[in-house]
Amino acid sequence: MNNECMALLAEQWKHICQNYSSDDLLHAFQFIQEHSLVLVEEFYKNMLLEKESAEFFSDDLIQQRLRDTLNQWLLESFSVGINKSFTEAVKKQRMVGHVHARVGIPSWLIMRGVREIERKMFELLSEAEYKSALTTCSYIVQIMGFATEIMCRSYEAKTVANQEVKHSYRLFSAMQDVAVQKDKQRSSLLDWENDLMFKVFSGGHNFKHPMLSKSEFGLWFIHKASYAFSGSDQVQLIIDRIYQVDQLNDVVVQCVEKEKILTLIQSIRDLNREIQLLVDQLFQVSEYIESGNDALTQLLNRRYLNTIIGREITFSRQNRTPLSLLAIDADFFKSINDKFGHAAGDLALKFIAEALQKYSQGSDYAFRVGGEEFLLLLVDTDLERAISVAESIRQYVEHGMIATSQGQQFKFTVSIGCVLFDGHPDYQKFLDAADTALYAAKNTGRNRVYVAQSTLQATLA
Ligand code: GH3
Ligand code: MG
Ligand code: MG
Repeated sequence: MNNECMALLAEQWKHICQNYSSDDLLHAFQFIQEHSLVLVEEFYKNMLLEKESAEFFSDDLIQQRLRDTLNQWLLESFSVGINKSFTEAVKKQRMVGHVHARVGIPSWLIMRGVREIERKMFELLSEAEYKSALTTCSYIVQIMGFATEIMCRSYEAKTVANQEVKHSYRLFSAMQDVAVQKDKQRSSLLDWENDLMFKVFSGGHNFKHPMLSKSEFGLWFIHKASYAFSGSDQVQLIIDRIYQVDQLNDVVVQCVEKEKILTLIQSIRDLNREIQLLVDQLFQVSEYIESGNDALTQLLNRRYLNTIIGREITFSRQNRTPLSLLAIDADFFKSINDKFGHAAGDLALKFIAEALQKYSQGSDYAFRVGGEEFLLLLVDTDLERAISVAESIRQYVEHGMIATSQGQQFKFTVSIGCVLFDGHPDYQKFLDAADTALYAAKNTGRNRVYVAQSTLQATLA
């Protein structure tokens, strides 16, 4: 949703309001103010009947927090006409839509709840002595519908973007493995060919030789590399060549004429060279391999952060396993650059990356998210291990000595914010909590680990 679109929506909101007198707007607001808590109750009572809602609203604390948010939303949505804060109102719906997308709450579930609010409103309005209840009704229904429409619009835009990143994350995961296999598979293709030639030239007839598509190379390419490189022109060409080789291989193993065998073998060799060339071309599209990694530290960059955190949060919620996050930032980093130069600063950044690798496990995720800012997502990790990992990293950096290429030496420190996942389905809250803890570590002296209190408890308090 760009600025132009937002301005148009704000204009539409204004138009809706212009059809009503300021008295109408005030009556509607007073009605909402008087009944908002009942309406909120109605929303959740009915939503919780849907089995799909269980995974979002299972926790009592979350339910309470969402009740407060919805109450706020109702009051704000109906004060817009009075305050004429149309642009802010559109921004608010957009933000709510984004939150829903991050959490993964489907739009229909929201519509379902809104429908119940509207039903209850009619019920209340028909009982009450509201001045011209019909006008109030029509205004309320329009605003509820319009606000939800903006929200869903924003939700859908965000969902499409998320799907694209998820897809490229899958590609990236497959790609990492493919890159490791590259050299191994090159020799596996050659082995297959040499084995065939050996069998032919050692004079055997009617011998057995596996099809290329069933060889180690063929299986690797068809099941993994073709997926990792999907969308590239070469993929289908390579698969076609593999099956052409299969057909020739079939003829060779049964053929008895020496001349014909030699011609067939030459054709197979030509096809295999072509396959090898095409595979090499695929790997030259090296952005596939690099795109998810930070070139300086080889850690993950921001690109997959949301997807990975979102996935791990869902896993943690579903399996009730702990999940922790460390936010790490170098202290007084500017002065390192100033005193020793940018290249020396880069060495220090590499040193931090080394510390993260050293004290994390293969299943954890280390990111460089900004210049000298890092995140370490500790999978299946309670606060005790998280603190211990954080403390080890802090000490490792504190005691390390960086030697510059100019023969100078220096020491530096890091501050770390540490937080345990509290079950809130919006991953942004988790990231924000780690950030807040990091700033608390900075503000209380640096070179220390600051452990966040539960964000959920803190917000509810
Ligand atoms: P604080 O303790 O408050 O974090 O102080 P600081 O100096 O580290 O604060 P700040 O975050 O403002 O400064 C970060 C500096 O990191 C700014 C920039 O010059 C430097 N920086 C960012 N990216 C890189 C990089 O890739 N290489 C190097 N050498 N320096 C970088
Ligand atoms: Mg810093
Ligand atoms: Mg910083």
